[in-house]
Amino acid sequence: MLVAAAIFCLKRKGLRVLVTGGAGFVGSHLVDRLVARGDSVIVVDNLFTGRKENVMHHFGNPNFEMIRHDVVEPILLEVDQIYHLACPASPVHYKYNPVKTIKTNVVGTLNMLGLAKRIGARFLLTSTSEVYGDPLQHPQVETYWGNVNPIGVRSCYDEGKRTAETLTMDYHRGANLEVRIARIFNTYGPRMCIDDGRVVSNFVAQALRKEPLTVYGDGKQTRSFQYVSDLVEGLMRLMEGDHIGPFNLGNPGEFTMLELAKVVQDTIDPNARIEFRENTQDDPHKRKPDITKAKEQLGWEPKIALRDGLPLMVTDFRKRIFGDQDSATT
Ligand code: NAD
Ligand code: UDP
Ligand code: UDP
Repeated sequence: MLVAAAIFCLKRKGLRVLVTGGAGFVGSHLVDRLVARGDSVIVVDNLFTGRKENVMHHFGNPNFEMIRHDVVEPILLEVDQIYHLACPASPVHYKYNPVKTIKTNVVGTLNMLGLAKRIGARFLLTSTSEVYGDPLQHPQVETYWGNVNPIGVRSCYDEGKRTAETLTMDYHRGANLEVRIARIFNTYGPRMCIDDGRVVSNFVAQALRKEPLTVYGDGKQTRSFQYVSDLVEGLMRLMEGDHIGPFNLGNPGEFTMLELAKVVQDTIDPNARIEFRENTQDDPHKRKPDITKAKEQLGWEPKIALRDGLPLMVTDFRKRIFGDQDSATT
C-alpha cells in the first residue's frame, strides 16, 4: 500500500522547470501553465521589465520559487528543463541600454547554456522574428537568413538574438545538449507593460485614456499579432516535442499599423483620433510568419484572431489604468 502510494507520488511529481524572465509578460503566462500542470517552477528574473505582480499569485505555493538574479551572472540550480526568456522585448526597453541588451543575450544565454550542460537539462531559447531584420522574403520561412543591419540601433537585440541562436546550436553540436529554438513574432495580451512603447500596448492605452493613437511613419508597415496563450502552447509543444527548430511561432494574420488602429478603434473607441509621428530608425517594413513547419512538426497553429484577443487585453489594461472600480463605469 505504502509502496503504491510512493509510486503514485513519484508519477504525480512534475518536472523541475526554470523560466528565466518568468516575471515578464510571456514568461508569467508560461509559468501559470507549468504550475497548473504540476511542475515545480523556478523563476529567475532581475525585474528590469518584469513585475512581481505578474507572478505574485504563486507566492506561498511550495512548487513555485522566484529568485531575483541577473542572468549575466552565473548561477547554480538543478532543474530538468530551462525556458530561457530573460531579455527585454520592447524596442524602447532594449534600446534603453543597448550594451546591457547584448550582454543579456550573449553572456546571459551562455550562462544558461553552461548551466543546462552541467545538469543535463533541455534548453529552449526564445529567439525572435527580428533575426530576419527588414526581410526581403515575405512571408518569412525559417530557412531565410535575414537582412539585418549589424550597426543600427536595433542591432543589440537582432544581432544579440542571432548570436544566442548560434551559441545554442554550438552547445548542441559541441556538448550534445538537447536544445529547442523558437522565433517568436509580435505577441500581445494581458500583463504587457502598459507603457512599454510597443504598438499594441500603446494603441490600447491611448484609446482607453482618450489620447490620440500614435501611428509611426505612414502606418503602412505590417506586423502579425499573436495572442499570448497561443504562443505559450507553441513553446510547450516545442519543449516537449522531438524537433530542435528553429520554429516560427506567430499568427500569420497580417495588419498594417493603420488597420491595427482601426481594430483598436472598433474595440475601444470609434472616435479615437490618429496622430502620425516620425518613424524610428531601421523599422522593418513587413513581417509575417510562414508557420508550415510548426504546423507539420509540432501540430501547432494559433487559434485566437486579433479581434477576439484584443478585448481580453483591453479588460486587463482597463483594470490596471483605471483600477477595478473606475473600470466598471468607463
Ligand atoms: P518582457 O520584457 O515582458 O519580459 C522579459 C523578462 O526578462 C522581464 O521579466 C525582465 O525583467 C527579464 N530580464 C531582462 N533582462 C534580464 C536579465 N539580464 N536577467 C534576468 N532577467 C532579465 O518581454 P516578453 O514580451 O515577455 O518577452 C519574453 C521573451 O520573448 C524575450 O526573450 C523576447 O526577446 C522574446 N520575444 C518576445 C516577443 C513579443 O512580442 N512579446 C517577440 C519576439 C521575441
Ligand atoms: N555556468 C553557470 N551555471 C552552471 C554552469 C555554468 O552559470 O551551473 C556558466 C559558467 O559560469 C560559464 C558559462 O555558464 O560562464 C559557460 O559554461 P561552460 O561550462 O559551458 O563553459 P566554461 O565555464 O568552460 O567557459
Ligand atoms: N508603432 C506605431 N506606433 C506606436 C508604436 C509602434 O506605429 O505607438 C509601429 C512601429 O513603428 C512598428 C510597429 O508599430 O512599425 C511595431 O512596433 P513594436 O514596437 O510594437 O514592435 P516591433 O515589431 O517593431 O519590434
